[in-house]
Amino acid sequence: MAIKVEKYAVGDKLPMMCSACDSDQDHTVQTVTKLGKITSAVCDVCQTSSTFKSGVKTSVAVGKGKAATPYDRTRKYKKGQAMMHDKFGHGEVTAVLEPQKIDVLFGDTTRRLIHAQE
Ligand SMILES: [Zn+2]
Repeated sequence: MAIKVEKYAVGDKLPMMCSACDSDQDHTVQTVTKLGKITSAVCDVCQTSSTFKSGVKTSVAVGKGKAATPYDRTRKYKKGQAMMHDKFGHGEVTAVLEPQKIDVLFGDTTRRLIHAQE
């Protein structure tokens, strides 16, 4: 799901990982910087919108995608995976830090959670 260093324009379509669909989907570019870098895009399939800063996802607003599976601290998560947290709602794993710690983006807030607990 890396964003290539290319110039994009509003209305361009490109495949990106959609955490709500849990697969690569075509996204329509909503906003770009002066340099042609994508700052927000919407999934064509479920209307989930994601925003980016310097190529890093900074917020995700879930559209009508299927509900993610509930957060499970014993499960091992990977970057880009989605979860449904009973307190924070829909989240997307943005980084795996240590074997048992992950950063998860909920709306526009990143929270550190544990995973892969025995
Ligand atoms: Zn989607």
